[in-house]
Amino acid sequence: MTDTTELATFRLETREWLRLNCPHSMRGKFGVADEYWGGRNARFITSEQQLWFERMAAKGWTVPTWPREYGGGGLSPAEARVLEQEFRGLECKPPLLSFGIWMLGPALLKFGTEAQKLEHLPKIARGEIRWCQGYSEPNAGSDLASLASRAEDRGDHFIVNGQKIWTSFGDKADWIFCLVRTDTAKKHTGISFVLFDMATPGVSTKPIQLISGKSPFCETFFDNVRVEKSNLVGNLNGGWEVAKYLLTHEREMIGAMGEGALPQSLQQIAIAAVGLDGHGRLADLQLRAQIAEFDMDEAAFHATLARFGELAKARKAHPAMSSMLKYYGAELNKRRWELIMSAAGSDALEWESDRSNYGGLARTWLRTKGNSIEGGTSEVQLNVIAKRILELPGA
Ligand SMILES: Cc1cc2nc3c(=O)[nH]c(=O)nc-3n(C[C@H](O)[C@H](O)[C@H](O)COP(=O)(O)OP(=O)(O)OC[C@H]3O[C@@H](n4cnc5c(N)ncnc54)[C@H](O)[C@@H]3O)c2cc1C
Repeated sequence: MTDTTELATFRLETREWLRLNCPHSMRGKFGVADEYWGGRNARFITSEQQLWFERMAAKGWTVPTWPREYGGGGLSPAEARVLEQEFRGLECKPPLLSFGIWMLGPALLKFGTEAQKLEHLPKIARGEIRWCQGYSEPNAGSDLASLASRAEDRGDHFIVNGQKIWTSFGDKADWIFCLVRTDTAKKHTGISFVLFDMATPGVSTKPIQLISGKSPFCETFFDNVRVEKSNLVGNLNGGWEVAKYLLTHEREMIGAMGEGALPQSLQQIAIAAVGLDGHGRLADLQLRAQIAEFDMDEAAFHATLARFGELAKARKAHPAMSSMLKYYGAELNKRRWELIMSAAGSDALEWESDRSNYGGLARTWLRTKGNSIEGGTSEVQLNVIAKRILELPGA
């Protein structure tokens, strides 16, 4: 598509701004070491990372399409797309990773009161507050609406008791967006969506150790936690609607993750491992065929993502499309990492050494196993697709 005159001007200005303002070290392949999640206890790794973050936040470009009064850049969907293209063209690294941006923000923009938007959105945009998600419980995962954490009505506030599980970065987050039961007689219509500070008395977390050796999530406990009613998002007992809307954003985010975490491309890793033949092609015929097949599927997926983006901006996307993207993106990413592991051979299993960057490949491979579980399992996404997109009869 060609730009309108205004967009062409915006493109040139944006390119120039990025060229002048994105420090050299903040360009190139984005890795775990470049991540900045913000929050009360956040520390920048380098002064250039800080400079880059501050420049982007000042322009509102950590959340380019959010309105300016909430800390955003106020860009139109077309301008945001140009920014994204120019950002990628110069290989600028993301200044801020945030569940607030990917999940809570969109839900607050749709369901929050004006006071809630003004209170929370600017702090998300400026990376001041880091959020975690309190959805899953020991007996409520795929069947999320079975959740039992309870919020008792005490007039101007609730008292929350219960337990969440798999709370990603629960021990690092400042605030939590949380699903609680406010009516025990009803299932989906007895749930409310509340926000509270993780420093509130009665909130505690216990990290869960993973097979990858990391501990990115927690069990989270609530023991008589006071939550002001002003922190209820949406209607009392109307939290399921907010939760589902937020999940569509979470699923899009997970579906689109993919290659970001790779220090090198799949091809580069394969070439380093098996070398090239006399014609300059990957020496292992079978691996070459598998990578070619993967590349075609990935290109088709990128085209689908772009199509979905356009449909979403035109408000014509099917609401369950995020399940399709989540399902395919998660399975594709798992496939990518299986290929990387088979390409790199036994070297990829190195676990504790400088040479392997402390098992970078193996640990990321193991982490991708969670992609088809987090944000709703692949089986659950297939159920949604069958029911809501294909309109197949239910069991
Ligand atoms: C990396 C990671 C990060 C996460 N982060 C968070 C977080 O920050 N906050 C949070 O609240 N949660 C988080 N979760 C939890 C996640 O949302 C749940 O694990 C997920 O919803 C599945 O629930 P469960 O683990 O209870 O599995 P279960 O629901 O017990 O499912 C077990 C198995 O049964 C299958 N199954 C269940 N029901 C059906 C059905 N109706 N049809 C077909 N198959 C079915 C599932 O697909 C799965 O294979 C995270 C999970 C992971 C892996």
